[in-house]
Amino acid sequence: MKVEYNYLPEQFKHPEATFADLRELVASGEFTLGPFMERFERKFADYLGIKHVFGVNNGTDALILSLKALGIGRGDEVITVANTFYATVGAIVAVGATPVFVDCDDRHNIDPALVPGAITERTKAILPVHWAGVPADMEAILEIAGDHGLKVVEDACPAVGAKIDGRHVGTFGDVNAFSMHPLKPLHVWGDGGMIATNDDRVAEWFKLYRNHGMVDRDHIAIWGVNARLQPFQAVVASRVLDEVDRFGDLRIRNADLLDAGLADLAEVRVPPRPDKYRNVYQLYVVLVEERDELVKHLIAKGIEAKVHYPLPLHLQEAAKDLGYEQGDFPHCEEYADKCVTLPAHQYVTPQQIEYIVQQIRTFYGAAAAPREAA
Ligand SMILES: *Cc1c(COP(=O)(O)O)cnc(C)c1O
Repeated sequence: MKVEYNYLPEQFKHPEATFADLRELVASGEFTLGPFMERFERKFADYLGIKHVFGVNNGTDALILSLKALGIGRGDEVITVANTFYATVGAIVAVGATPVFVDCDDRHNIDPALVPGAITERTKAILPVHWAGVPADMEAILEIAGDHGLKVVEDACPAVGAKIDGRHVGTFGDVNAFSMHPLKPLHVWGDGGMIATNDDRVAEWFKLYRNHGMVDRDHIAIWGVNARLQPFQAVVASRVLDEVDRFGDLRIRNADLLDAGLADLAEVRVPPRPDKYRNVYQLYVVLVEERDELVKHLIAKGIEAKVHYPLPLHLQEAAKDLGYEQGDFPHCEEYADKCVTLPAHQYVTPQQIEYIVQQIRTFYGAAAAPREAA
């Protein structure tokens, strides 16, 4: 049996409806901003339950522009977690600010209890990451931010559809960033990103800044950039948005099956999954013993297991000027040593999940999964 990691060829096997929408776009000639973009931005804002949404180049630009919108730059510190994708930290550095890391908790997200200890007089913002689709503890983060007068930018890049007590992630912070990279829950045919905010002033700034600062064809109010999402990607994203919750439900079903099938193994640590969080499993991640050997075993058995990622941010060569050392963030380091990503996307069947569970149990020399679990 084969269990593939990439779901895109399967998902876009029948792109006729999207092609029809694109034909309409092409006929209109509305290739920058315009009605197709506006329609998608409105639709995504309504989906999230937020006032303003702006389409931008990619998730990384969404983070950079979010930080810029809040006036964060040289001399400022931004607190974030050391187990994230490079772009979270790259964005902080790109605006001239200094990233300050804290360790993660047992759900693999920023540990709010450690944030107060990282605050200095230079701290301007907290940047929690909804890592791999797992909502960060926004209630605790917002309370700390409120107590210390800090801004909050959510890195919701991998987490469209994730919720806390029914409320979408990416709607809690001052300005929030989403990615529409092909391997994120809401995705396009290439790169794309979104910014979401309830702040009217910030929204006014974005509208200008992503489009050269133009108030009209002949006048600019501020110096801006070109960071516009392509309308053709907005058309693609609009179709995918119609399916994103159904895909999320299928991923949750698969994750629940994996959790149940692996629960009794001493070598596998399934993170706690409190009910109030809707995790959309952009990645299904557990911590395992003998990780590299397990990954080799699974790949040999046709299961495309992966590692996201084997080296935490504070130990990357790029981070050496920040002055961190091995041992500074033990949970992030353990995560990097033990994390494995198992395929659990919307096209993985329950039979394939059973096969993955069996192969993991065989690797650890465990008996077959209890009947009701597998
Ligand atoms: C994907 C991702 C990004 C970057 O998004 P791009 O669209 O690829 O630029 C940033 N942060 C996190 C946590 C991500 O998963």
